[in-house]
Order: sequence, then structure tokens, then C-alpha cells
Amino acid sequence: MCPVCGYTKLDEPAYDEKGCASFMICPCCGTEFGYDDSTTRHGELRKRWVDAGMKWWSTSLHPPADWNPETQLKNIFSEKA
Ligand SMILES: [Zn+2]
Repeated sequence: MCPVCGYTKLDEPAYDEKGCASFMICPCCGTEFGYDDSTTRHGELRKRWVDAGMKWWSTSLHPPADWNPETQLKNIFSEKA
């Protein structure tokens, strides 16, 4: 799951079990794991994405038909709970 936007259909985990970044870019929020989040906290990246209107980032990959960014964000908070 993307730790920034809660997108659950990433091709591979953002971080492996050792905590190594995949350097993959989330197609939903555009965060590059290990790069964008090495200098900026996930919470801050999330706030920026939300403030920018929670837009789908990728132009080559389309969002799921039932994609709902607000529902998706709840993934993050339900996992922490
Ligand atoms: Zn994301």
C-alpha cells in the first residue's frame, strides 16, 4: 500500500521487509518511494496531495473504475489503528 495516499494496487510494495525503498512511483499520488519521501514525511506529502485536490497522477495508468480517493485515504488510518 502507498503510505502517502493509501493506494493498494501498487505493483510491488513501497518498502520491502528490510525497509528498502522500491524507487517506484505511485501512479495515484506520484510519490517516488525512497526519493520524494526521503526528504519529506509521508504526512506532509499526503497533505500536499490532498491540498492539490487528490488527483490521479499517472497518465499511462488509469485509476480503477471504482476509484475514490477519500475512501482510499481511510486505508492509511485503518492500518494504523
Ligand atoms: Zn500514492
